[in-house]
Amino acid sequence: MTDRIRTAVRVEGVVQGVGFRPYVYSLASGLGLAGLVGNDVDGVFAEVEGDAAAVGKFLLLLEPQAPPLARIERVTTRRLAPTGATEFVIAPSQPGGQRRTLVPADSATCGDCLRELSDPADRRYRYPFINCTNCGPRFTIVQDVPYDRPLTTMSDFTMCTACAAEYHDPADRRFHAQPVCCPACGPTLLLTGPAGLPLADRPPLVAAAELLRRGQILAVKGVGGYHLVVHAGNEAAAAALRARKHREDKPFALMVPDLATARLLCEVDETAGRLLVSSRRPIVLLPRRAAADDMVASAVAPGNRQLGLMLPYTPLHHLLLEGVAAPVVATSGNVSDEPIAYTDADALRRLAPIADAFLLHDRAIYIRTDDSVVRASSGRESVLRRSRGYAPEALKISPAVPRPVLACGAELKNTFCLAEGSRAVLSHHIGDLENAETLRSFTDGIEHFERLLDIVPELVAHDLHPEYLSAKFASGLTGVDLVGVQHHHAHVASCLADNGEEGPVIGVAFDGTGYGTDGTIWGGEFLVADLAGFERAGWLAAVPMPGGAAAIRQPWRMAAAYLAAGDRAAGDPGRGSAALAVRQRNERQWGAVVTMADRGVNSPLTSSAGRLFDAVAALLGVQDSINYEGQAAIELEQCADVSERGAYRASVTDTSAVKPSSLGEAAGQRPSRGPALVVGGADLVQAAAEDLVAGIPAPLIATIVTVCGKLRDRTGLHAVALSGGVFQNLLLTDQVVTGLSDAGFRVLLHSRVPCNDGGISLGQAVIAGARDREARSG
Ligand SMILES: [Zn+2]
Ligand SMILES: [Zn+2]
Repeated sequence: MTDRIRTAVRVEGVVQGVGFRPYVYSLASGLGLAGLVGNDVDGVFAEVEGDAAAVGKFLLLLEPQAPPLARIERVTTRRLAPTGATEFVIAPSQPGGQRRTLVPADSATCGDCLRELSDPADRRYRYPFINCTNCGPRFTIVQDVPYDRPLTTMSDFTMCTACAAEYHDPADRRFHAQPVCCPACGPTLLLTGPAGLPLADRPPLVAAAELLRRGQILAVKGVGGYHLVVHAGNEAAAAALRARKHREDKPFALMVPDLATARLLCEVDETAGRLLVSSRRPIVLLPRRAAADDMVASAVAPGNRQLGLMLPYTPLHHLLLEGVAAPVVATSGNVSDEPIAYTDADALRRLAPIADAFLLHDRAIYIRTDDSVVRASSGRESVLRRSRGYAPEALKISPAVPRPVLACGAELKNTFCLAEGSRAVLSHHIGDLENAETLRSFTDGIEHFERLLDIVPELVAHDLHPEYLSAKFASGLTGVDLVGVQHHHAHVASCLADNGEEGPVIGVAFDGTGYGTDGTIWGGEFLVADLAGFERAGWLAAVPMPGGAAAIRQPWRMAAAYLAAGDRAAGDPGRGSAALAVRQRNERQWGAVVTMADRGVNSPLTSSAGRLFDAVAALLGVQDSINYEGQAAIELEQCADVSERGAYRASVTDTSAVKPSSLGEAAGQRPSRGPALVVGGADLVQAAAEDLVAGIPAPLIATIVTVCGKLRDRTGLHAVALSGGVFQNLLLTDQVVTGLSDAGFRVLLHSRVPCNDGGISLGQAVIAGARDREARSG
């Protein structure tokens, strides 16, 4: 007994609702230790007492063997005097005070639950709502904190004696699993027709699977909302879904029964395989294999070399897919670009014109959450839409923000972000803030997150665009300090924060649209930036967007504008584009559009790289008009030829140094400390027109490397951050990384948050923190 010790242990992070106390209980008991473990507002506290070697072993194993859903941020220990305790107990929860613990993300059904699901002897055999401390719904059912059953949508269900016994037994794997339930006491399934009337005299799952096999469209209630589901191999069903959903070209995601089927349809490397089976269960974008042609209808992902696949992530999905025994389309339950339906009444109302039947259940979804979208890139995860399975997991930021921040995000692919100290919590995917319903999800979501995280923002960061609904929302708030952030600075800062860096860095921000500080639309930007400010060091030469928004929907207009600009620059307005197919296809309007661009009528100037891609896509005959955002650039990736053809690149010319406008100064823009660089984008379009290159990657990559080289010469900076939606083009990104690395640069890419506008709010948050820190230090 000479070396008996007692140590207090504090564990912070996502440690509640994930089976942490039973884990500590069994680890300590197994090592013969006495003591206690409990939950409080800061996370989990424990005291362990016994042989010094055993206590040491406990501390050694505590983190590495933690339950799968736990996310440990910090473990601290403190020596106490031994009390002579002989038992290990679970202490009662300590309520009240500041809520610093975090609500876990929703998690896919675990292996133990799947075994019970298929075990005829188990009392939850084929029960579509089986879950435990290691899996099941979390974020989407939580109404308030502390995370406890009465504050979830499971409060409507009273546990039966058997479930309650498991819930209260520290040795049970369902100890304090808040959504625990069984066929006797939990939610039930219902199959209805579009009018909400029950269908079929057979079990709902059996009848639902049969409907799908027969080629019908089924609305299925999942974790964060409704999916619209059809048999993936049924051409007529997939086409009908497309027509009824008013979704013309955008690819549908597929849910496949297992990893083996995923490997049949797509190339699945080690990283992609890990992402597919992870408890987050995102949609993983994968290169399509030839075998997919036989199993997947052509209407699923027309003209796409990739497929978005996910594995089942609820017991309901597992059972349904087992019944269909084939891949199914599982696309968001909405019409066109509306938010995904998540309440039964809303789903029945909005989806009735689309779905032939509804597979419902009576466990309410509190927060709407879309499927996340990721891909594997050079052995690591690259998140493109961060939502179900990820939100509301906190991201560590450094340096810490001095005061609590709310960052309102961008207009498209909106997420917002709440940050306090060294923790930033990005919301689930809200969507495009273009209609009342999405705006309501945005404002309700902010309120919900502020309550869950107990954060009262003092700083509110917003985009500079005065017409953005998120910016208008920010300006309507009182009692807070507003921080206006330039869109592309936010992109670069988001990439820095994603990598845990502060800069300064050369930031390449290429995307579709962002409000510039000089009244033009930016989007092909080279910034020299840190978190507090930026210098606009270079950009794609601005061209007119003939017809404004019409030029976004009709990329051929950008081809016309770019070709005309190139002709003017060459001093040869008659050089002509008469022979080009894109002009012949649009001959009727071509002249008027060029005149509009020339005279600057309804033709805002833009340096957008997205519009440059549009022009090239139209020129190459990929798309003259688009029906979803970024379509031209995405489809261009499908047909791009990346082989180098000589050393062709765009002209890079010096222009006078940039003096920021007052709007720019207020947003942290600094005067440029040398001539700014202007990239002749028209050269790239002209090259494509002359068929110098099939597509844009090779010359654009060479040009990016050239500009970064010139900026390195001027600033001495060796790190480049790549951000903006254009870098969703994997082909382009891979080649740019290779080009920059070969030139001796260190390249920062996005991984944890999207490079597109879905990651903007994180950048805004760290910028607000940095500018606040700077202002306070004088
Ligand atoms: Zn489980
Ligand atoms: Zn029960």
